[in-house]
Amino acid sequence: MNRLTPIQKLQAIRLVILDVDGVLTTGQLRYSGEGDTSVQIDFHVRDGLGIKLLQRAGIDVGIITARTSPAVTQRMAYLGVQHVFQGQHDKIAAYIQLRDTLQLTDMQIAYMGDDLPDLPLLHRVGFSATVADATPLLHKAVDWISETNGGRGAVREFAEHILQAQGKLDALIARYYEV
Ligand SMILES: [Mg+2]
Repeated sequence: MNRLTPIQKLQAIRLVILDVDGVLTTGQLRYSGEGDTSVQIDFHVRDGLGIKLLQRAGIDVGIITARTSPAVTQRMAYLGVQHVFQGQHDKIAAYIQLRDTLQLTDMQIAYMGDDLPDLPLLHRVGFSATVADATPLLHKAVDWISETNGGRGAVREFAEHILQAQGKLDALIARYYEV
């Protein structure tokens, strides 16, 4: 049986994998009627800094999403996220590929998702998280729930939660207090 405390689980995390729709975005898709590549989504800039803070702490970041979107490709390139798996209807397959490529164990990986297709991954990883406005079924299935909604800073909150547990947050934000 796994008897680790939530803090101990968080201290083991070396890779954070994120769902996109409903986690890095509100989950709303704006259709123009001109085809899949024209679908627009909004990212929150504070989630972007959350990803950068994780990277600065030596924690790798990846995404696994069922849809394929040029906007996601562009945003992840800007943020320096190298592990981008789009069009993944079987998220477990992409997860195992990434885990094995990086030579990590399940216990070293955290995942944040918001809906039923995320459940297999949430059950598998060392630390599972969801957003405040996830489908309520997920709230019973995870280690941690953000107070913020998807696409509204939930990823930033999760990043700071991990970094706080690892004792890395204060040093990372100290530079912003310098005058
Ligand atoms: Mg989702």
